[in-house]
Amino acid sequence: MIETYEIEFGTSKKNEVKNLTQEVKKRVKKSDVEDGLCLLFAPHATGVLILNENERGIKKDYLKGLKEIAPENNDWDHDMIDNNAHAHIKSAFVGTDRTIPISNGKLDLGRWQDIFFIETDGPRNRRRLIVKILGKRKED
Ligand code: ZN
Repeated sequence: MIETYEIEFGTSKKNEVKNLTQEVKKRVKKSDVEDGLCLLFAPHATGVLILNENERGIKKDYLKGLKEIAPENNDWDHDMIDNNAHAHIKSAFVGTDRTIPISNGKLDLGRWQDIFFIETDGPRNRRRLIVKILGKRKED
């Protein structure tokens, strides 16, 4: 079976690390899938999806690291349009999708892996994460 969910959220800063782990876990539980895959896809051209540690320092470092990938005010050509080339580059290079295995009804994340959307061009009222859960239920 396949279940599709959507998680909607807003961001309040230009650059922000948003933890969506609990929201995704709720959907996995609701789906009742025992064995399968959880596909996460953020349909945005600015913003990044990562799986990594939920620790205060490293969450700041994600933003610092992204700045290294694409600094602002770098004479980017796209900045002539809407001044956010750095955000597009971060999104393009790191990506906006992840796939996580589901085993025994739970996301098979590592001990130090949480699910984060990183805002790179906020604040935005409406960001979305599409959650597609594919797999077998117990009774299937
Ligand atoms: Zn743009």
